[in-house]
Amino acid sequence: MTLLERNPKAQTAWLGELPVTSRYTYGLAGERFFRAIKDEGTILGTRCSNCERTYIPAVLFCERCMNQLDEWVDVGTTGEVHTFTLLYENYDGSPREKPEIVAFVKLADGGLIHRLDEVDPEDIVIGMQVEAVFKPKAKREGSILDIAHFKPIGQ
Ligand SMILES: [Zn+2]
Repeated sequence: MTLLERNPKAQTAWLGELPVTSRYTYGLAGERFFRAIKDEGTILGTRCSNCERTYIPAVLFCERCMNQLDEWVDVGTTGEVHTFTLLYENYDGSPREKPEIVAFVKLADGGLIHRLDEVDPEDIVIGMQVEAVFKPKAKREGSILDIAHFKPIGQ
């Protein structure tokens, strides 16, 4: 069995209910971050000049020195695959026709966990350069899913 094959004996689901409701609010940094994705098709981070770090997703305070961050940086739409995994089932437990690839894409000093597509899992290399593929502007909603997926550069 290679790393890209699923262990057929692995547990596939845990059934139960969680009586939890939640509401996610973007906050000030998140709102600007998601508006840039929606309106401009760009990925913004915030930079801490003390620590020389650029946070993706953008945050208002540096986690290292607690400096308030007001320097916004367009980091572009390309990054590199830091790690990835394959999903063989849909969220409802039904099998997928082909595995979905989920990757941590490193951007500046942070990154995004997102779908990776337009690549065969066998061809993925840690460190490979990928670019964001945005939904058409009219279909964007201010969500991380306005980025449809990442794909290898040059494809
Ligand atoms: Zn800092």
